[in-house]
Amino acid sequence: MLENKNTSKTDISQLGEFGLIEHLTKRFDILQKTTIKGIGDDAAVLDPKAQIVVTTDMLVEGVHFDLSYMPLKHLGYKSVMVNLSDVYAMNAVPTQITVSIAVSNRFPVEALEELYDGIATAAKLYNVDVVGGDTTSSTSGLIISVTAIGQAKKDQLVYRDGAKENDLLVVTGDLGAAYLGLQILEREKQVFKVNPNSQPDLDAYTYLIERQLKPEARKDIGKLLEELEVKPTSMIDISDGLSSEIIHICKNSKVGCNLYEDKIPLDPQVISTCEEFKMDSTTIALSGGEDYELLFTVSTEDFPKIKANPHLTVIGHITQESEGIHLITRANTKIPLVARGWNSFQEE
Ligand code: ADP
Ligand code: MG
Repeated sequence: MLENKNTSKTDISQLGEFGLIEHLTKRFDILQKTTIKGIGDDAAVLDPKAQIVVTTDMLVEGVHFDLSYMPLKHLGYKSVMVNLSDVYAMNAVPTQITVSIAVSNRFPVEALEELYDGIATAAKLYNVDVVGGDTTSSTSGLIISVTAIGQAKKDQLVYRDGAKENDLLVVTGDLGAAYLGLQILEREKQVFKVNPNSQPDLDAYTYLIERQLKPEARKDIGKLLEELEVKPTSMIDISDGLSSEIIHICKNSKVGCNLYEDKIPLDPQVISTCEEFKMDSTTIALSGGEDYELLFTVSTEDFPKIKANPHLTVIGHITQESEGIHLITRANTKIPLVARGWNSFQEE
């Protein structure tokens, strides 16, 4: 479906393990003052100036991505984004990453170069140093695991457990697009199987596909909140869908919540595509996942500071735990929110 323009193929065995590592990693420069030693020794050495946050996410071929429509460059980029998003969700700033890959010999060196092009682009744009990793062989698919390290002053960190009754529930950006992008790509894959010469017209879905293939972590939000002088009482990033993230905040904070259906921010392409495919846009936003937006709670006192901001939408408020976790629909009925987030163990 996506043509590989790179026609030259160098077998990994021609470089050997050390040659391959050297080849893939020689491009990485050190930009962060806190990086004392990057790639090239038994371990990296860091000199942190604040509290350290550490997070890891692993992406497995066939489970988290499908290389028939995910270009390797995008996969590299996305594997960094999903980790940086977790660092931003702590209200911290990412500073370093490590990248570990397991590859089968069906991948030529050029394919791994593409993967690392995406990783390098992400690292540069988000100002993080690639300070290490591991390279091993795999008998089947590609596995990529990224660890992100970040820093925050102790009083700046935001956890999932700080939401209080009456706090406002706020979300950044818009929801549901990444999931619909995946549905479009899956559909095109099936069409392509039947007719390899078909020329898909994807103009109506550009935003959706971009959100699936090239997500961006919200590095702007920490700065924005600092400028607005707002410190969230709790925060989480939206990787599995809005409903499961709301439930995580509520369970951890021992509170309840009312979420208002008519407040959920949706892009026009999400609305038109849901109409086209007769899908419910609320269900998509609640359960879709992979949006990598931030969900947080703020004290009602902070409402004037955030209300006019185009990046932020108030979608609900926190209640007592005993009131439960509910969606208030457009028809003004109250239904319990259930977590049907994306789950990699779920049977398809
Ligand atoms: P060791 O045998 O001590 O684990 P390696 O030969 O695996 O060392 O790695 C050598 C250096 O290259 C180390 O700094 C390691 O962190 C780094 N490295 C190995 N694989 C990768 C990779 N896929 N991406 C980035 N850095 C890597
Ligand atoms: Mg190693």
